[in-house]
Amino acid sequence: MKVRALYEALFALEDVRQVLRETTPDHTLTEQQRTVVLKALERVREALTVLEEWKSGDAPPIQSAPGIVARSAEEEYVSVQPIQRGGVLPPEARKTLTAYCDGYSVCDYCLPPFRLDRIRRPNLMEFHRELAEFLGMDEARLFPGARRCFQAVMSSLVKPGDTVLVDSLSHYTVYLAAEQAGARVVEVPNTGYPEYRIDPEAYGEKADEVERETGKPPVLAVLSHVDYKVGNLHDAKRVSETLKDREIPLLLNCAYTAGVMPVNGRELGADFLAASGHKSFASPAPSGILAVREEWADRVFRESRFREGKEVELLGCTLMGGVAVAMMASLPHVKERVERWPEEVEKARWLVSELERIGRSKQLGVKPKQHTLICMEFPDFHEVSKKHKRRGYFLYEELRRRGVFGLQPGLTLHVKLNTYGLNWRQVRHVAGAFKDVAEKYRIPVS
Ligand SMILES: *Cc1c(COP(=O)(O)O)cnc(C)c1O
Repeated sequence: MKVRALYEALFALEDVRQVLRETTPDHTLTEQQRTVVLKALERVREALTVLEEWKSGDAPPIQSAPGIVARSAEEEYVSVQPIQRGGVLPPEARKTLTAYCDGYSVCDYCLPPFRLDRIRRPNLMEFHRELAEFLGMDEARLFPGARRCFQAVMSSLVKPGDTVLVDSLSHYTVYLAAEQAGARVVEVPNTGYPEYRIDPEAYGEKADEVERETGKPPVLAVLSHVDYKVGNLHDAKRVSETLKDREIPLLLNCAYTAGVMPVNGRELGADFLAASGHKSFASPAPSGILAVREEWADRVFRESRFREGKEVELLGCTLMGGVAVAMMASLPHVKERVERWPEEVEKARWLVSELERIGRSKQLGVKPKQHTLICMEFPDFHEVSKKHKRRGYFLYEELRRRGVFGLQPGLTLHVKLNTYGLNWRQVRHVAGAFKDVAEKYRIPVS
């Protein structure tokens, strides 16, 4: 009821906003518009009553448009959605999104040379400078996702037939970006189940092997700072040192790190650093950041031969409107929260220790956790799923009934979850919900 009331009020105010827009510049109302405003305000007042009384109970979900149900996962559940925790927006970003929701809404003051990173109202120019500094790099640009950053780097460095080294836990988008550039992809192995470690020295060995076989060293190496599979934090510094000896540039994929934990590209030895706004930078989708070292800026952010000042890899301009300004609104929050990383890891470790009390369950990846993305193995839930009439969906459904949202529906053996940004009360709730489900199905909880 509260969530419904909240949206009723917000949507009613949007109707008032629409009248403001229709009556510019002097806002003189017709009879009909006056009625619209008064009715909308009445709806706000009704909604406020529900909120004032903090009423409990179920209400049908509300639609923002026909067929579009207003999303309320974050308002109704403790969300442990593995890929979404770091992308949750702080209030200031949600407000900014509302205020900049129109198309092209950052282009009002786009002056020569007509580029996103030079706009001063709102001050995107300063924002770009701050981003580069925050990431310990020299130049930064916005992109629609980390994948578009990989694409820009590969397209700038790789010619068809060149080899790109990637870690064997790489995200599929790394492969696609390499494929599009016509690269040969060579994988650096990992130790496999259950730890999935990557030996930094293996980058050097693979690079030498490639050079022996093809006569040419790899032109680029990619490392997942934290991988999507088990959430291991890989040793970027040692990988970059191995590569430096061979003059191979490193693209560090920080989709799961930059924006949630302290990351300094220069200290880690990254030549390029790709970040994801919606994964880890408290930003709306789709958004990402490519930060590069000075030596590479002219190459990756090269200007067009045909249209002066426009950058080819960005097709001139990338993120506009609400997405770009909401990122900007989130930066102070992001800068502040990375300092609290040790406590975030502590919560993840605590949850792992609780979940490992369930039957034969165990955490996959390196222990103890160094990141909040967790992959659990639950052989006992998996056993239950084989006989349950809802099959693997039972776990998702049982947890959802207990206020926990975000597991991949259908999975029971290997389950990913992320505690980032949850408070202790919520983390304890998650642990309790899992143990409660276990007990319901007579799985021993130690
Ligand atoms: C999601 C993800 C990406 C892609 O990021 P986008 O910002 O969605 O393009 C890249 N790498 C890893 C490890 C990811 O999890």
